[in-house]
Amino acid sequence: MKFYSLNRNSAPVSFREAVLRGIAPDRGLYFPENIESLPASFIANLIAHSNAELAFHAMQQFTREDIPDEVLMEMVHEVLQFDFPLVSLTNEIAVLELFHGPTMAFKDVGARFMAQCMGYFASSGSKETTVLVATSGDTGGAVARGFLGVEGVKVVILYPSGKVSNIQEKQLTTLGQNITALEVNGTFDDCQQMVKNAFLDPDLTTKLQLTSANSINVARWLPQQFYYFIACKALEERSQPLVFSVPSGNFGNLCAGMVAQRLGLPIEHFIAATNINDTIPKFMKTGDYFAQPSSPTISNAMDVGDPSNFVRILELVDHDFDRLRKIFSSYSYTDKETRNAMKEIYKISGYVADPHGAVGYLGLKRFLQDHPEYYGVFLETAHPVKFLDVVEDTLGFKQSLPKQIADITKKEKKAIAVDSYKDVKEYLLLS
Ligand SMILES: *Cc1c(COP(=O)(O)O)cnc(C)c1O
Repeated sequence: MKFYSLNRNSAPVSFREAVLRGIAPDRGLYFPENIESLPASFIANLIAHSNAELAFHAMQQFTREDIPDEVLMEMVHEVLQFDFPLVSLTNEIAVLELFHGPTMAFKDVGARFMAQCMGYFASSGSKETTVLVATSGDTGGAVARGFLGVEGVKVVILYPSGKVSNIQEKQLTTLGQNITALEVNGTFDDCQQMVKNAFLDPDLTTKLQLTSANSINVARWLPQQFYYFIACKALEERSQPLVFSVPSGNFGNLCAGMVAQRLGLPIEHFIAATNINDTIPKFMKTGDYFAQPSSPTISNAMDVGDPSNFVRILELVDHDFDRLRKIFSSYSYTDKETRNAMKEIYKISGYVADPHGAVGYLGLKRFLQDHPEYYGVFLETAHPVKFLDVVEDTLGFKQSLPKQIADITKKEKKAIAVDSYKDVKEYLLLS
């Protein structure tokens, strides 16, 4: 299987090369040349398979030429070392918990799969790779943990000083080994700009094999299908049509769900629930796409004004707006509505949702009003303690810290302070 660039100005590449490059030379995102459905008999009997087997079948057509089957099986087994419980809240709504991994956010799955791929490619002859990633919070921690100790791969994470939560900072800065954190005197946008500069800097690209670990990387994007396979397995007995509501920022998670639908999962509809960063809800209303600068919210992992994976969603429907509207809706919510939803969820079910999950709940509720025949699942993308201040302030009671979080808050922070791109470049050339 080859992957082509959505800018259509560079040659198609193998899975391996798409992973190692991250983005195509023409700056386009990579996209699979074709997507084949799995046999109907397989889809009708998900329940007969372990989560790792489902994950294997979700990925195999994409990786087959570059990763032997038995290696892929080991990889997905290694990635899926934790659970993805589907918790029923009401008669028509369930929540899929994606936060049982080591950093308690859903990005663990993609980061761990990508790390497995890079480790395998390094062991089979690639030169040492440097993964360079900017983070506003969750990505950095998941990538750091996923890549910890992977031979042949160095990870350099840029984060904005004073703008990530205390827990998130500890997750980035306390691991050591092959993980280095650069603490940038600036904003998340500054961090992203520095990463972009590095990718375009021939002084670096001639010396180092650089790649990104954002959801533009196919090895982080495609394994997110696993959540939907695992959820559909748990829902196999239900006869109602299924709708999934996905709290969305860069739209990697939702777009992976649409790939899983293409592979044959019985999902009728997707809802992209956003905060006030509403580029896509507006696009669905008007058909016009206007990127906007991001605005800060309490669901900050979704503060994205120009979602990078949306082009992949358009490609999946051949840029046909009517086709998109049949399977996809998008709604946006304010922080006030989000806090009220957190209270409402707690009141109706005793469930504590984080602000991202609460946005997903609102999108789902809106859809079910007009479509009562559906059964709905919203994704809970992070554990509520990752957004401790907002959750405690909104619900008015204390949360207890899970062990993996409590342990990390005691560890010592190690980060290198950087002021400008020049400092980043110097670090990369000398390290
Ligand atoms: C990254 C993230 C999102 C957004 O996911 P996308 O795939 O970028 O749409 C939502 N919630 C949380 C907690 C996240 O960390």
